[in-house]
Amino acid sequence: MSLDILSGPPISAPVFEEDPLDLMDEIDALKREKNASILAHYYVDGEIQDIADFTGDSLKLARDATTVESPTIVFCGVHFMGESAKILSPEKRVLMPDLLAGCSLADSCPHDALKAFQDKLRAEGREFVTVAYINTTAATKSLCDWIVTSGNAREIIDKLPADKEILFVPDQHLGRYLMEVTGREFILWPGSCMVHEIFSLQDLLRAKRNKPGSVILSHPECPQNILEVSDVIGGTEKMRRHVQSIAEPTTFLVATEPAMIHAFKQVAPQHEYIPVPGIMASTGETCACNRCPHMARNTLAKVRDCLRDEKPEIVWQPYFEQARDVLRRSLLQ
Ligand code: SF4
Repeated sequence: MSLDILSGPPISAPVFEEDPLDLMDEIDALKREKNASILAHYYVDGEIQDIADFTGDSLKLARDATTVESPTIVFCGVHFMGESAKILSPEKRVLMPDLLAGCSLADSCPHDALKAFQDKLRAEGREFVTVAYINTTAATKSLCDWIVTSGNAREIIDKLPADKEILFVPDQHLGRYLMEVTGREFILWPGSCMVHEIFSLQDLLRAKRNKPGSVILSHPECPQNILEVSDVIGGTEKMRRHVQSIAEPTTFLVATEPAMIHAFKQVAPQHEYIPVPGIMASTGETCACNRCPHMARNTLAKVRDCLRDEKPEIVWQPYFEQARDVLRRSLLQ
């Protein structure tokens, strides 16, 4: 035997992909056996959306979690969403396929940093209410007066007392957009979403020129330069309703997480949907795949495993109590 072979790189075992259809059957059987319901965000893979009992944006899923009758929920999304489901339905067991599915936006506003900033504002004699986008951790939510989603933000902000300042966390782009539509001034937290931050204006304009008559559909988490050239701006539910409301086949240039296109095709298959490319911050190169790496941690195999093993689970934390008050007031009333 030659020494070259003996000293070469280790030969790794072949990786066998499980058949998605077999996985779907297994999940279906486990769901019945364990009396569980699956909730899936529009940003997870289409095949997971297909096996879910409920699909939707953060607001819809938080509300759905309170209405499901089964004692167990499998939440396919990211960590703060599983926390919200547990907080609003504490009697239910909330499992997640991968507890490491985080969110760059939620991470950009940690509890201690927000607390220090609020203390500083109070020491300066500023009177303010703290409004948090739902993409925040439960610990951060426990410091806030209101929680909003892109679906209900305007309605809540319009009700806030005019003599108080508004501290808006964590998404600076959504905050800036809401300042425009509500006419209120905010103190903006400098957070952003790694997916919506990277859309390339140049590539978007080129795509628009190549597809005359196309409609640019953008999420308000996108930066201002993208929103300025957009035809329709809205959260995921608003976008879904919009494509559904148009009968005439249309080309949509979609500036949000591209898994959303699966949900669009379910309700409006007559249209063409083109995901807007992003730019990779590290190299400046155009990136054809602007998937959210956190949402992509959800896979069919992990959904099966978490149903089978009944873990990992979102475990109740002491600060959930305070976060529950603000979540209930903001999302359920
Ligand atoms: S798309 Fe952005 S905001 Fe949504 S989960 Fe991923 S990182 Fe968070």
